[in-house]
Amino acid sequence: MKLVNVAKKSYKDYLCFMSEKDKKELYFLIEKFKDKKIAMVNATEFGGGVAEILHSLVPLMNDLGLKIDWWKMYGEEEFYNVTKAFHNRLQGEEGDLNERDIEVYLKYNRLNAMEMQGCDYDFMIIHDPQPAAIIEYRSIENKGKWIWRCHIDTSTPNLQYWKFLYNYIVKYDAAIFTMEDFVKEGLHLNNIHFITPCIDPLSLKNVPLEMEEAKEIISKFGIDINRPLITQISRFDPWKDPLGVLEVYKIVRKEFPSVQLALLGSMASDDPEGWEYLYRTLRRAGEDYDIKIITNFNGISNKEVNAFQTASDIVIQKSIKEGFGLTVAEALWKGTPVIGGNTGGIKLQIEDGVTGYLVDTVEECARKVLRLLRNLSIAEEMEKAGREKVQKEYLITNKILNYLRLFNKMCDS
Ligand code: UDP
Repeated sequence: MKLVNVAKKSYKDYLCFMSEKDKKELYFLIEKFKDKKIAMVNATEFGGGVAEILHSLVPLMNDLGLKIDWWKMYGEEEFYNVTKAFHNRLQGEEGDLNERDIEVYLKYNRLNAMEMQGCDYDFMIIHDPQPAAIIEYRSIENKGKWIWRCHIDTSTPNLQYWKFLYNYIVKYDAAIFTMEDFVKEGLHLNNIHFITPCIDPLSLKNVPLEMEEAKEIISKFGIDINRPLITQISRFDPWKDPLGVLEVYKIVRKEFPSVQLALLGSMASDDPEGWEYLYRTLRRAGEDYDIKIITNFNGISNKEVNAFQTASDIVIQKSIKEGFGLTVAEALWKGTPVIGGNTGGIKLQIEDGVTGYLVDTVEECARKVLRLLRNLSIAEEMEKAGREKVQKEYLITNKILNYLRLFNKMCDS
């Protein structure tokens, strides 16, 4: 276990995003919980949506006066190989859970639990399957409330894996899912809550960037700013379907030859499949120089992601399964139209035809890209609706309040 260092943030800067009613409730709840100790536990401090959220949530909650730590669990390659399989199978992939994988999974959970012996938190929030079994090995002195926070789409899980994990999550005092569809197999869990992920409107990734500056940044990656650009920003992962996006681009290019495609992906430290899938994507893209495949190793960081989301004509998130898809909220917040896979958390964010388009196939996605490229006025209307939706539902200010409401409820029950 390692305590993750986070940058400082000041909550005062965020008050402008809150209604007076919410501010009042926030201050009331902070007063009530300011002496409580809270821990967030997850598997990576970099790459993917959970790390993205914790880098903002933790410093903001600290600044509000809560005592909150973020622990990144320790793991080695054998553990990440097993937990990536857990991730895939809980999202529905076929495959058998074998004794060796169980052994590796429990070994690292036990090791990490031992390192936390003596830490006495009032609320332990355990993110996703990787550290879920730590609860089994907690010390008996630990009397705090344990909450399991699931970020993945568990609507049609591989039942062998789900049943195994269920033995542990049933021990938690509460479980948080992103949406109701994800708990079909979880009817007997204690205290189920729904909280969506969120974006930080003032982070380097989401703070407003002038279009001119955004274009200057993307041009450094070889993008011709005078030609249309479609972009997907995602880990290289089969569920994110980068290969499908390449097919979409190829169809669009036949009718709109000036189009360019950017695929941006950060390589998460707990995702051993990522490299293999990146190489597959590169091979499939071949020698088409209007396709740019760029990772954090080519200098893509938060500001560059911001620039691509700001300056692209269309952002695609063509996932086949998606817990939420922060990249959708991020692009909508910047007023860029989004075409997303008709799945999981993307369905919450995209109201089809209003804040973007939901698509089921490559062909449908290509048709919607062409429609938007040819009708700038549709894109303009979507921009407004998308931003409003994010302001109302997916900003971090709102989520801090959701967590505090949950603590309050758990203390009262
Ligand atoms: N991301 C990034 N650089 C990249 C690719 C992704 O910073 O090259 C960020 C992206 O902006 C988002 C997060 O990683 O904030 C991905 O979260 P999402 O919920 O979309 O997917 P996850 O990876 O958690 O499945």
